Amino acid sequence: MYHFFVPDAGDGPVITITGADANHIKNVLRMKPGEKIVVSNGSDRDFYCRIAEVLPGEVRAEVLPEEVEESELPAELVLFQGLPKGDKLEFIIQKAVELGAARVVPVAMKRSVVKLDEKKQKAKLPRWNAISESAAKQCGRSRIPEVTAVLNWTEALDEAKTLDLVLVPYENARGMAATREALSRLEPGMRAGIFIGPEGGFEASEIEGLTAGGALAVSLGRRILRTETAGLAALTLCMAALEIRAEEL
Ligand code: SAM
Repeated sequence: MYHFFVPDAGDGPVITITGADANHIKNVLRMKPGEKIVVSNGSDRDFYCRIAEVLPGEVRAEVLPEEVEESELPAELVLFQGLPKGDKLEFIIQKAVELGAARVVPVAMKRSVVKLDEKKQKAKLPRWNAISESAAKQCGRSRIPEVTAVLNWTEALDEAKTLDLVLVPYENARGMAATREALSRLEPGMRAGIFIGPEGGFEASEIEGLTAGGALAVSLGRRILRTETAGLAALTLCMAALEIRAEEL
């Protein structure tokens, strides 16, 4: 079912969709009155709706009583992604959104080859967030995960300190005991972070800085994953642990 975001959705029995989404419904999807869609307010609520009117530049949808199945993970996962080369970050953002990440935080790490100055960042940030919005619509998220501006290492560490649990998949970590321990600590309602190094990996001092703050260095297995694979693998492990635990409750 098609999914749209209307920030003030839910204030009344009818939701009005305007702009690009209205155009998409009318001229691309050619939807007609009577068809059903899901409208989210982008933060915490979803509404089943039935299209009532399709007008030029505006679509009116009546809110239906049925509850929409929760599509968000029961915990907040923040991906701290070491700034990768090229446009890999766009791929990482799209997949992280599909896997349920709440936020994607690009981080300039010691071995990040790419250096993005203010100007370059200004140009990229709207595109990164547009990719997040498009992925959120496609996979039926209730919220649009934020992609933040690039943080430096100190800023990323400071943000990590506000989280309940931090995992750092580390290419030199050996054995799965720490991975199992970390996943067993992940509980619904938590705010958890995942730090992924860039192509060149982590400097030992970065790992020390994270683990000194309580982060758990974990292995993602005996193979060296590309940076664009590792975050998704870690998110998948966390997503599965959370969804399995949520069903057990
Ligand atoms: N330059 C490193 C090397 O050759 O050993 C590889 C770094 S890897 C391409 C990029 C990031 O993915 C790592 O810093 C780590 O965060 C994660 N990663 C890749 N493979 C991993 C594994 N088997 N276990 C844990 N983390 C891994």
